[in-house]
Amino acid sequence: MFIGHYAPAFAIKAARPDVPLWHLFVAVQLVDFAWAGLVLAGIEKARITPRFLEASMLDLYHMPYTHALPSTILWAIGAALLYGLLVKNKTKGVAIAIGVAVLSHWVTDLLVHSKDLELWWGGPKLGFGLWASLPISQLLELGLFLGAVWLYFKSSQPKPSPKRWIGVAIVAFFVVIQLYSLVPPPKLPTIQIFAIQALFAFSLFSVLAWVLERGRELNQPSRL
Ligand SMILES: [Zn+2]
Repeated sequence: MFIGHYAPAFAIKAARPDVPLWHLFVAVQLVDFAWAGLVLAGIEKARITPRFLEASMLDLYHMPYTHALPSTILWAIGAALLYGLLVKNKTKGVAIAIGVAVLSHWVTDLLVHSKDLELWWGGPKLGFGLWASLPISQLLELGLFLGAVWLYFKSSQPKPSPKRWIGVAIVAFFVVIQLYSLVPPPKLPTIQIFAIQALFAFSLFSVLAWVLERGRELNQPSRL
């Protein structure tokens, strides 16, 4: 999954407007931030294999610390506890929302990955493998993403400003990046270069989420 990971971020934001969108953007990709770091450190292993699956060239053959289900659960609990300690908003639901966002990563990966997600450490590996079909995986990913953006847009409105179009432009940018990611690169990157590109993309997307949210405000509750 690429931008499909941000569907839970937008959906949670629609339900819990008190959590900053960019925090949710970091949370839904937290285990992939860690994955990229561990790949660069040589601790988790993956290789670039052209046409490994129709919509992915990633052979993710060893990632027990980030993508084994119990590991992702531990990342989610750790993130929720830390968030609860650090943020000024002491509502318990805010920390739980962050934990759910972190955990959503595993579920969305499960849909598209080949069997590379361990159910427990050393246990059977799961993955529904939808990346084997380019049209199905992209329809799913874009459908999830745009459906959740719609939920968020419905729960908020653009601030009155000449820059009202920025939110729509950012959403369009995400869709373009998703489609661009499917174009085979002229030269295959090493897995280390891929990990650095991923870190850059996840960070850029989080900044864009911050910009997007600044341009919107909550709908006024309707008065009966
Ligand atoms: Zn992942």
